[in-house]
Amino acid sequence: MIHLNDIQKTYEIGKHPFTVIKGMNLKIPKGEFVAIMGPSGSGKSTLLQLLGGLDSPTNGEIFIEKTNIPSLSEKELTYFRRRNIGFIFQNYQLLPTMTVAENIAFPMEAEGISKSKQKRRTAELVQAVDLEDKINFFPSQLSGGQQQRVSIARALAMNPPLVLADEPTGNLDRKRGTEILNLLDRLHREIGLTIVMVTHDPYAARFAERILLLKDGEIQSDSRLAEGVEDHVMENLLAKLNA
Ligand code: ADP
Ligand code: MG
Repeated sequence: MIHLNDIQKTYEIGKHPFTVIKGMNLKIPKGEFVAIMGPSGSGKSTLLQLLGGLDSPTNGEIFIEKTNIPSLSEKELTYFRRRNIGFIFQNYQLLPTMTVAENIAFPMEAEGISKSKQKRRTAELVQAVDLEDKINFFPSQLSGGQQQRVSIARALAMNPPLVLADEPTGNLDRKRGTEILNLLDRLHREIGLTIVMVTHDPYAARFAERILLLKDGEIQSDSRLAEGVEDHVMENLLAKLNA
């Protein structure tokens, strides 16, 4: 699904180049649920932005399915992103003047999907995220957890094979956070969604099947969480994270 080939990202700060991602290689198979952990400033958000084509690498190739996204024009990239990638952010990024239904339908509206199809799909999605009774509410009338569920429904509107989430539970308490993580886990299992989730929270990371630990723009470890060995793997990771 995803193949990073020698990705580098360098920011110019004044005259000083600052390399945030250092020659990274990575493969993520279709249907995998991956967590990206690492200290603040290690490059997690930058990596996710590169994967989603929201920012472009200084060097290297980023294949999603068969498409090398840095080689696309701006127009092609926008089209590709809308059809293939759903984004979920820590602060939900809902449109405050639109209702739940309008927010969810927004990507379909942008793609010129017919109103009747939008309506059918929106009905499916509100059901999937358990918000049928909130369809005409505005974001300000919802709790944080409900807003995040709307943003997940919106991310899934075009039925993308890949969802990228940056700290999706960062603003939520444990109970609401767990609801969001269970929802992502269910979507991953039921529709085979590929999920890449940045989180600094070890509790959230345990919902994934694989944990990448970033440090100073490099992958420091790449661990699979097999049933039964999580505690051991997590202890090792946390020791590295705190080292
Ligand atoms: P994380 O999400 O792991 O906290 P980021 O990917 O946000 O880390 O940032 C990694 C490093 O890159 C940080 O040192 C940050 O200051 C720097 N950085 C991020 N975005 C920019 C930018 N647009 N311009 C310059 N430096 C940036
Ligand atoms: Mg970040």
